[in-house]
Amino acid sequence: MTSTPGNDAPGAPSPAGRAAAPLRAVLVATGTEIALGRTVDTNCAFLAELLGGWGVRVQRHLTVPDDPYDIAATVRECFARFDVTVMTGGLGPTEDDWTRLAAARAFSCPLVFSHELASDLRGRMRGWGFACPDNNLRQAWIPAAAYPVPNPRGTAPAFAVRRGGRAAVFLPGVPREAEHLARTALREIVLGLRPGGPGAVRTFVLKAAGLGEGKVDDLLKDILRGSENPYVGLSAGQYETKILVTVQAADAESAEALAAPVLAEIERRLGASLAGSGEGGLRASVAERLREGGRRLGVVDSITGGVLARSLLEHLPPECLAGAVSCRPGAASGLNALNYLSAEGADLVMSLHAQTPLPASSGDCAEGTASVTVVTHIRDARPRPQWGRRRGGKSDEFFQITPLAGPEAHLRERVAALACFQLWEFLRDKG
Ligand code: ATP
Ligand code: MG
Repeated sequence: MTSTPGNDAPGAPSPAGRAAAPLRAVLVATGTEIALGRTVDTNCAFLAELLGGWGVRVQRHLTVPDDPYDIAATVRECFARFDVTVMTGGLGPTEDDWTRLAAARAFSCPLVFSHELASDLRGRMRGWGFACPDNNLRQAWIPAAAYPVPNPRGTAPAFAVRRGGRAAVFLPGVPREAEHLARTALREIVLGLRPGGPGAVRTFVLKAAGLGEGKVDDLLKDILRGSENPYVGLSAGQYETKILVTVQAADAESAEALAAPVLAEIERRLGASLAGSGEGGLRASVAERLREGGRRLGVVDSITGGVLARSLLEHLPPECLAGAVSCRPGAASGLNALNYLSAEGADLVMSLHAQTPLPASSGDCAEGTASVTVVTHIRDARPRPQWGRRRGGKSDEFFQITPLAGPEAHLRERVAALACFQLWEFLRDKG
């Protein structure tokens, strides 16, 4: 990797509307508890998403135990290799908090006492009604190569090193403190590394429904391969694959202009499998179609034990959902459910039943595999007469039988995802 020019020495101007190549980043969690698996590292997951949204390419997540030599070596290696190194943890006042000393070693500089941080610490502790113990003042020592980043959410101050167009930022371990500093100080530092200012980073999302990830990859392989700016990536879900197009440009308008031809080409290739755009999953696309058509959906479900109802309730706006009834397998209560949904104004009813019911409980400890044959029935009562009169009549019906198999604990979610996909397909074809 070639190094980018320093902030103070702006690089060659980029072509109009284009931004420099994406910054590459490494995220490091420090802590023996994390290395041993007793604390789950949520900081790096949070940071990865945040940096990704700024157009930064996160290429490594590392975990290092509380060992000053290990931490120093990691900082040195990361700084030599990546544009941005973000480390969290080990900034507290206790014996196992080694990050300050390790960073000083990595940058071959002494620790220096920051009067700014010390008075900030004293002031904050006074405000909470405590005298600042000497122990805490250890936190005011930072590497001479660094500058302080005060932490308004806690007592562990952060610091950052910027050199040769690169940055290493050291954040506290406590997630709410790390998150706050990431959204503020880290953002400013990272976006400031781009010559000519931060510019605009935008991610556009397209959704493909019903095609496996492999099929989408095949359709788009030449677009995906080696894409830089726009950067095109896939995120696979059940019955849907998101295509993420991230662009960096001088401003929002140029970002849109850069993305537009790529988005248009992806849409063309996906054809009828294109399920819309935006972050929300297929359920959001279903909601959109129901809303556009002014329709109200009712669901009768004797397979998923309420999983489908819950996921629809979470994703559909109240005006699109007449109700979701969960009944026991093989129950004759289906008819009552239809009457109930009709009274609630449903004009489209999906019922899900199983030819071979799933086991009663989805124990997630002893996970076995299970199979189910899903019978989906969609009745479209549009224009909407009363259900009672339509039953057995010439309503527009849609019937599918789908065998599914897989880990028992996940099968209910898969059935719910299948139901959403079938509903989306029905709405696409029949409006
Ligand atoms: P403190 O002043 O609290 O010592 P610190 O910056 O030294 O802050 P650590 O001692 O490494 O941070 O961690 C403090 C607490 O924050 C840990 O006990 C843990 O609960 C949480 N924590 C640290 N790192 C992470 C991480 N990567 N993901 C999630 N939680 C973390
Ligand atoms: Mg600590």
